[in-house]
Amino acid sequence: MNIQLPIPILGFAAYSGTGKTTLLEALLPKLTNAGLRIGMLKHAHHNFDVDKEGKDSYRLRKAGASQMLISSRNRYALMTETPESESEFDYLLTRFDTDKLDIILVEGCKNIAFPKIELHREVVGKPWLYPSDNNIIAIAADSNVTDSSLPQMNINDLDAIAQFVIDYAQQNNQPKAQKSEGACCDTLSPAFLSVTQGQEKILSLVAPVQEVEGCSIADTVGRVLANDVSSPVNVPQYTNSAMDGYAIRGEDAELSDFDVVAEVLAGHAYDKPLEKGQAVKIMTGAPTPENADTVIMREQAQQEGDKVTFNASIKVGQNVRQAGEDLAKGSAVFEKGQRFASPEMGMIASLGFGQCEVFRKLKVAIFSTGDEVQAPGSEQQENAIYDSNRFTIMGMLNNLGCEILDFGIIEDNEALMIEALENASQQADVVITSGGVSVGDADYIKLALDKLGQIDFWRINMRPGRPLAFGQINNKPFFGLPGNPVAVMVSFINFVEPALRKMQGEVNWQPLKVNAIATEDLRSRQGRTEFSRGIYELDARGQLTVRTTGKQGSGILRSMSEANCLIEVSPAVDTVKTGESVTIIPLQGRI
Ligand code: AMP
Ligand code: MG
Repeated sequence: MNIQLPIPILGFAAYSGTGKTTLLEALLPKLTNAGLRIGMLKHAHHNFDVDKEGKDSYRLRKAGASQMLISSRNRYALMTETPESESEFDYLLTRFDTDKLDIILVEGCKNIAFPKIELHREVVGKPWLYPSDNNIIAIAADSNVTDSSLPQMNINDLDAIAQFVIDYAQQNNQPKAQKSEGACCDTLSPAFLSVTQGQEKILSLVAPVQEVEGCSIADTVGRVLANDVSSPVNVPQYTNSAMDGYAIRGEDAELSDFDVVAEVLAGHAYDKPLEKGQAVKIMTGAPTPENADTVIMREQAQQEGDKVTFNASIKVGQNVRQAGEDLAKGSAVFEKGQRFASPEMGMIASLGFGQCEVFRKLKVAIFSTGDEVQAPGSEQQENAIYDSNRFTIMGMLNNLGCEILDFGIIEDNEALMIEALENASQQADVVITSGGVSVGDADYIKLALDKLGQIDFWRINMRPGRPLAFGQINNKPFFGLPGNPVAVMVSFINFVEPALRKMQGEVNWQPLKVNAIATEDLRSRQGRTEFSRGIYELDARGQLTVRTTGKQGSGILRSMSEANCLIEVSPAVDTVKTGESVTIIPLQGRI
């Protein structure tokens, strides 16, 4: 290879049968998820057709077009006939639009000189390439090599291979200036992470609180259960009628009329066994008498004096709720880690519990930073903005049932910052700040955090909310959220809320995500997750649709207020067009 590409190139070299394509197919999602935009060059030994026989492009090509370009809303393809000879590798590379890519991966082209990972499986029974090919820069195999100092990975460890490619892309990307605007620092700064990587990292570093306390059922809303609960009783306790009507013995169903021997209201019982031909008038919820296993609803009955007849066919066992049908005595009801909402409160009460064991409340310290930030409730000063972040954070913490320690606004002064952070971390389980974490600005919180140790400054491949600091102060998790009001909320939703839920002891929480049809074009950028503020609704045809709230600036807090969801456009997607399906994250109950 003789040309200089503005982006790195990396090949995967192996003999056929090693499973190159399968490996790459599994690898690509991991790379796009990490924000890499991938170009792929594949060499095929055989003749191939891209389009299918009978398709317009196929027909025109076969009819004589030596170059055939077909384009639609989602992609275009240029097919060029090369009857004389195969195109040069270098020439093919120039066909890529490197402004829109971070790396080119090559499958095949074993004999051309450019950096490659050797893939090797013992069962294929082929020789190693690395001893005679100094373009091999790493080995992914299912056996160990002892005579080489090349980095080695297990061929089945996709995460390790993905990390190698990510690191390689980072190390070999040229400085920003040489690249187009579109592909700048976002994807390739030192600590760039995808949303999922950030979430996973944070979740792996926080642990649930241990302390448990008793809580009366009336106060359990939002609390998290600290032990498994099984039912001490049958629910319902006794077999009872599901209808207002007449209880009879199923075996009597064919009889033409019945003697009404009693009337039973809920809370009372008929204490004799039912005899042949007898019926008991019964109300919903009242216990069915012994032998009675079938209830005929009142609307299907005619009673005259003590005689009743039924004008509908009777199915034995109908309209009766069996004891323990809802929950049998001893059966599992809730598992440790269940968060209480109204159904859980009702259920635990229905088992007769007056109180239950819950994890203690999480204490969360919050403060705002920035000399320009002013507390509301006083006359606005020059060059100041009122603090909104502390209050949006408070609201979201309240929804999660956290105890809030409000440290107010800390001015941009290193010593005061350190004192406040130390103090907050001693009193709280978690510390959250907003502002001052953007990479490149000289806010004091960064200086303070550097002194306190253990804090990483990340750039998340998302918008809004790219900068995020996360770490530990005195072994307490610390979140440094961005300053822009929408970015604060979007970062909280994506990173803080899942972590707090885990710390509260909640198990297996997942945010609700559903698909809706976009009713407008949604612009995004490949390689980052775009969270637009959206409004979803059912259209006249009953289809779930979504539109944005309009202008999406990360300072426009009104967009959060008008939204009922976030629209999530994944890193693999460039633009969502009107009529296409997109993921939405409903926000009810969360903000
Ligand atoms: P920073 O990350 O500190 O540069 O802040 C980014 C933007 O968010 C700036 O325009 C800040 O003025 C604004 N900002 C920072 N903190 C707050 C806050 N507590 N309330 C509202 N806006 C804020
Ligand atoms: Mg600031």
